[in-house]
Amino acid sequence: MVTASWTSATAADRKAMLRDILEEVAMTRYEIGKDALDERVMAAMAKVPRERFVGTYDRYRAFVNGPLPIGYGQTISQPYIVALMSDLLEPRPDSIVLEVGTGSGYQAAVLAELVQQVYSMEIIDALASAAGERLQELGYDNVTVRHGDGYRGWPEHAPFDGIIVTAAAPHVPPPLVEQLKPGGRLVIPIGEPADIQQLMLVEKRGDGSVSSRSMLMVAFVPLTRSQP
Ligand code: SAH
Repeated sequence: MVTASWTSATAADRKAMLRDILEEVAMTRYEIGKDALDERVMAAMAKVPRERFVGTYDRYRAFVNGPLPIGYGQTISQPYIVALMSDLLEPRPDSIVLEVGTGSGYQAAVLAELVQQVYSMEIIDALASAAGERLQELGYDNVTVRHGDGYRGWPEHAPFDGIIVTAAAPHVPPPLVEQLKPGGRLVIPIGEPADIQQLMLVEKRGDGSVSSRSMLMVAFVPLTRSQP
């Protein structure tokens, strides 16, 4: 019957989504340097209701392994990229992380399953409030969303164990490196907006020195800037 419940449909869809992620990890294993992602990350991907973060019209496509529009010209990343970026952060249950680019709040929800506290910044006011409400409705009370330019980070809550930027920047924002704890990790797509970018992993060592390496070619919407 056409009225098959959402729950049974999404359980199967979510399983297919996890299978797609595993396949894509296998296909990119030489680039990302691993055969499998952290089990906790995969469990979080299985748990977060992705269909609740996309518009009603797109719900039937929520689990397709590709990006989806979330309004205001922005997109929610494909599940594989969300999983990979979460894995690269090496999240621990006691981690405090910053996300730049809340968008729908989906990536924040995945992180909220993995860490103690997520601070997430979004430059488009309407998206920030919608995501904040959605996350609250879903019971994610360890996510705090704020409207603002994430290029400058969120100094009041720094330093962070991890920072994830889900919009492409021409360079690594110095304030974000500054707000990283020694031993912390920053995951960010770097490159020109109209082009393909490199997903970079930036690590701050115990002595404060910084190293970075490129993990994968990706395509993100641009990091925009508010007027200073
Ligand atoms: N992580 C999101 C998808 C992000 S799309 C999700 O899971 O749905 C990138 C988002 O970054 C967009 O919503 C865009 O408005 C936002 N953004 C762009 N520049 C920004 C900036 N300087 N500070 C904060 N958010 C920014």
